[in-house]
Amino acid sequence: MKKVLKGLGVAAAAGVGISMVRAATTYKAAPVDAGEQLAPEKVDVDRYIKNLSKAIQIPTICNVDESVVDWSKFDEFHDFLKEAYPLVHENLGLEIVSTRSLLYHWKSANPDKEPIALLAHQDVVPVTPGTEGDWEYPPFSGEVADGFVWGRGAIDMKNHLIGVMEAVETLLEEGYVPERDVYLCFGHNEEVMAEGELCGANVMMEWFKERGIRLDSVIDEGGAILEVKVDKVIDGHLAGVGLAEKGHVDFEISVNAKGGHSSQPPKHSALGRLSKILCNLENHQFKAELTPQLCSLFNEIGKNTSYPVRCVMSNFPVLKPLLTKVCSEIPPVASMMRTTTAVTMANGSPAPNVLPQKASAVVNFRIMPGQTVEDVEKHIRKYAGPKTEVKMLAGKNPSKISPTDSRAFKAIEKICKGMDPKAIVAPYLVMGGTDSRQYEDVCDNIYRYSPYLMTTGLLLTTHGTNERIPVSSLEDGVAFFKRYIRELTAD
Ligand SMILES: [Zn+2]
Repeated sequence: MKKVLKGLGVAAAAGVGISMVRAATTYKAAPVDAGEQLAPEKVDVDRYIKNLSKAIQIPTICNVDESVVDWSKFDEFHDFLKEAYPLVHENLGLEIVSTRSLLYHWKSANPDKEPIALLAHQDVVPVTPGTEGDWEYPPFSGEVADGFVWGRGAIDMKNHLIGVMEAVETLLEEGYVPERDVYLCFGHNEEVMAEGELCGANVMMEWFKERGIRLDSVIDEGGAILEVKVDKVIDGHLAGVGLAEKGHVDFEISVNAKGGHSSQPPKHSALGRLSKILCNLENHQFKAELTPQLCSLFNEIGKNTSYPVRCVMSNFPVLKPLLTKVCSEIPPVASMMRTTTAVTMANGSPAPNVLPQKASAVVNFRIMPGQTVEDVEKHIRKYAGPKTEVKMLAGKNPSKISPTDSRAFKAIEKICKGMDPKAIVAPYLVMGGTDSRQYEDVCDNIYRYSPYLMTTGLLLTTHGTNERIPVSSLEDGVAFFKRYIRELTAD
């Protein structure tokens, strides 16, 4: 850390002169650079709250083992949607593909124009057994209380699915006619990480592929709007739009030995040797890089900070080597900059007095776009030594990176800024996986963005206890989707 701080002093000194000039001339003063504000949008908030609450009350829990899934809950969810959104079901085609995925088709008069797709998943994760009592309101109650709608799926992602339905229903009420086709693709098993023909999203992508349909754009869950407030530095709403997703891979690393009684141990047992390899991997991390997404994230934030900070941020190119070093020391930021290495499981002998004949550990890697599962294997072999067994258990390469000059990205940016004068639209890298990755074969412009204002505390309730969404964030969600659909299908 000392070295890092030293570097900071030198670079800061070198950059400070130019920084001051640039900061004073390049950027507008905080608060944030607002877009042209949009006229209000009609949204039936009461209906949205009621329907979101009902949606949460139906526990659409999926499982990788389909035989244990209660499919009647998904059927009940489908019936509920039909009843809640009559115009959607009168005007859009609906096909159930894969086991229970929903594919809605809003036809236009121009089938030759590339359609847009709005994605969401119907399934939610179960509540960890034993934690039910920790909830302030039961997880499947859909309780509306204390300014929130409570329950599993409130932010991942029935809010988003119901928000899209509200938007389409309202557009139909208003007599809107799209000039290009719109698809709503609601998968049924995003949370169980099914692959290939078992994955609802993948089957829907194949549906498009078989018909030779390429999509103009896809929007799915991923980023949200986060309040960023640091006294006298920044006061904005950071709208994170995910352009790409990291990949992941698990490798089992094993070391063999003779074993025997623990009373006569060698200098290093198999487990001791394995530990050395694991430390070696931890000490030789993948190279951290300030990716273009992270650079634009810093740039966007920097533009909206107050003078002294802007002074530093406006000289991004000068400070890049330094920032790379500093950021790579901060784990949450570092995970956006490199393929991460996490040793997660280990096995030795079956008893305290037995030397292991085989010691194994599992290491989980999250892969940066631009690298592959094969790169990870090469990296392990480089540091593991020749007598080590390296076996891949499961893995997936990272997604492609979507561009920021597409119609869809520009629409997201324009609408966010037009709706919220505090909005800072920042492309970023999604750490987890979403259904949208499945659509790469039929679409180049895939964005992961959920238009709801959140706090980091609320986001941490995803998959956890007391998942809930502020009622105050719902109206803007629907208004965003209405505008997004209109913006992209007006011509
Ligand atoms: Zn989700």
